Amino acid sequence: MSVFEADKLEKVKEALSTCTMCGFCKSVCPSFKSIGWDSALSRGRLILTYGLLNGDIKADPSVIENMYTCTTCADCVRRCPSKVDIVEVIEMCRSDLVKNGHILPKHRNVADNVVRFGNPYAESKSVTDTLGIKPHRAKIGYFAGCTATYREKEIAKASLSILRKLGLDFTTVDEVCCGSVLQRIGIDEERAMELMKKNVDAVKAMGVETLILSCSGCYRMFKMEYPKFVDVPFKVLHMSEFLAERDLKLKPLGNVKVTYHDPCHLGRHCNVYDAPREVLRKFPDIDLKEMKFSRSASHCCGGGGGVRSAYPETAKSIAAARLDEAGFADIIVTACPFCVANLTAAADSRKLRTVDLTELVDSCL
Ligand code: SF4
Ligand code: SF4
Repeated sequence: MSVFEADKLEKVKEALSTCTMCGFCKSVCPSFKSIGWDSALSRGRLILTYGLLNGDIKADPSVIENMYTCTTCADCVRRCPSKVDIVEVIEMCRSDLVKNGHILPKHRNVADNVVRFGNPYAESKSVTDTLGIKPHRAKIGYFAGCTATYREKEIAKASLSILRKLGLDFTTVDEVCCGSVLQRIGIDEERAMELMKKNVDAVKAMGVETLILSCSGCYRMFKMEYPKFVDVPFKVLHMSEFLAERDLKLKPLGNVKVTYHDPCHLGRHCNVYDAPREVLRKFPDIDLKEMKFSRSASHCCGGGGGVRSAYPETAKSIAAARLDEAGFADIIVTACPFCVANLTAAADSRKLRTVDLTELVDSCL
């Protein structure tokens, strides 16, 4: 099994020959901690990829499961002393698996929904109709993303409310899925590129100069991935970056202990650590305490990389471990609707509440 192109083939070979099997990635990999097998670990996935490439192993269900329980959190990339880009290899392997017909049924559904409905949730109403705001020409644009629009609706509502309270002339855009989920699960690049072009055209059509995004996954796409394929002629800001630059007059939060969870796609992937914390420090009485693992060493929420849709129990157990690390707090604030969804789903009887930064800001603005 392999349809790896020559340059990708070289990358996989280089990654495997660079990996010293030191096992440092083992100390951080959330899927390994949840599953307990070396095959569900960064270096194990490198070996599996190489085995598939050489035809030494078959793409049987256990191999596929090991390749698809990676959340693409990139903590292994941070920890790896040999600087192996493990996530890149895993995503290349997934792309090869899909090209060879090995796509998980849940991921097939997600991909079909994106093509048919423009979002992974099979919602037939467009984003702008769901938000109830038609686009118009404005310098500031708001890109809600599928999860804040259709699932964690309070986040899109809070974002819109904040922009209104700040008295800004902003527009929604005729957006479709940003393409992140397709890239993460290995669907062919052309599909993601079509979405990128549609979104960039929709933003440009409104004359937007600054695009603000709620979702860390969408933000990473616009910031890191889109420029590889399309021209992005506008400024891209995560909502936390936008709010950090503003003079917010926030009311006190009251007597609550707050901690902040760094979304992997905002933190490790895009290096945005300070902005959300700067926004939190604008609350006059904030009692903000960091978790032991924060900023670049933050532990993953477990939801990314297609894990939540295909392996919800693994996603839940990773989220539960993260919530336990925040056990001293009343509120765990994050800056991504997907983290909110996954952490909330694992809350069980815990008193700890997960909220998005926008919800917290809107409630006190
Ligand atoms: S940390 Fe890097 S070099 Fe060490 S085993 Fe993991 S992938 Fe290989
Ligand atoms: S990206 Fe995260 S889940 Fe995937 S192998 Fe690396 S540490 Fe494990």
